[in-house]
Amino acid sequence: MPVVKDFFIALSNNKFMNESAKRMGPALGAKKVVAGVDIDSTIDTVEKLNERGISCTLDNLGEFVTSRHEALEAQQNIVEIMRRCYNANIQAHVSIKLTQLGINIDKDFTYQNTREILLKAQEFDNSFVNIDAEKFEDLVGITEILDKLKNEFNNVGTVIQAYLHDAMNIMDKYQDLRLRLVKGAYKEGPHIAYQTKEEIDRNYIKLIEHRLLTANAFTSIATHDHNIINHVKQFVKNHNIDKNSFEFQMLYGFRTDYAYELADEGYNFTMYVPFGEDWFGYFMRRLAERPQNINLMLLDIFSAKNKKTFITGAAGVAAASLLTIGSIALFKKNK
Ligand SMILES: Cc1cc2nc3c(=O)[nH]c(=O)nc-3n(C[C@H](O)[C@H](O)[C@H](O)COP(=O)(O)OP(=O)(O)OC[C@H]3O[C@@H](n4cnc5c(N)ncnc54)[C@H](O)[C@@H]3O)c2cc1C
Repeated sequence: MPVVKDFFIALSNNKFMNESAKRMGPALGAKKVVAGVDIDSTIDTVEKLNERGISCTLDNLGEFVTSRHEALEAQQNIVEIMRRCYNANIQAHVSIKLTQLGINIDKDFTYQNTREILLKAQEFDNSFVNIDAEKFEDLVGITEILDKLKNEFNNVGTVIQAYLHDAMNIMDKYQDLRLRLVKGAYKEGPHIAYQTKEEIDRNYIKLIEHRLLTANAFTSIATHDHNIINHVKQFVKNHNIDKNSFEFQMLYGFRTDYAYELADEGYNFTMYVPFGEDWFGYFMRRLAERPQNINLMLLDIFSAKNKKTFITGAAGVAAASLLTIGSIALFKKNK
């Protein structure tokens, strides 16, 4: 349903909606997919997942960063969560977005900001730092910064988006780095990216197989797709690939039972756990990927009504109104 996908992607990119949602706090079902707005509740979530044999990668939410002050604040939050994880002795590392660290403001400043995080991570047991993949328009900037950092640090890695035509070349360039392989979450044009699920899945499998056979570093296969996961399980068996050379990853709040099942079967497993106030863009991208996730939103709004308390009811109505107002505004704008 490309129209639905486009609609939610457009919402995820809308600064006004993101700002309004931030003031409101996680709503519309986002609580189920965002671990918490603060570090304490996030640490609690990580501890519970660790008890189930699941490690975590933590994402300090927020992409609409337009000032150096905001970018520095994000860097400090990331260092703080790393420190807290280290002190609590839990299994977790961070996933960072260079848009949050200022890539649309100044590349050199972003490089310094990211370098600061990596230096601190070295102090915290050389904790791994993943640089998330974002929109294609940011790829050149992200790559330039990563190319400098990888010469200095051995605890940095990144993400390869299988929807990109050039994904195989990018992946091979980083064959010595720890990599996460994903299908890709943003809207890109046909000159840059495959458009159909069949094409993307085919390229994703090709990348996974090539990587597992040739890589010199750890691989994270990040998907909720049981067809891909079953394929990987069979592939590693057929090729005698060491289970400790790769892991599966999923997003917090999605297919949790399946995640537990894979961890129980002895596969390395890491959960991507987002936290913080900037939940809206992240949540809208999840709705774009899978319109069935709208169920999370409806359940939340109706469960608020069922509680029959004025406050939760009002929050539900406010949330629904926000979505409706935003939708109308966007449709008008796009006409
Ligand atoms: C840990 C992690 C990190 C990520 N990091 C990035 C990143 O840095 N950059 C980026 O661009 N993207 C990232 N993504 C998002 C990714 O690119 C995809 O957009 C997202 O994972 C959806 O694709 P999918 O592989 O899960 O399969 P889809 O093609 O969305 O789903 C395939 C099939 O899986 C089943 N399925 C999927 N979800 C569910 C569900 N919730 N319940 C039941 N069945 C389900 C359905 O049968 C569906 O048809 C990340 C994803 C994960 C899991």
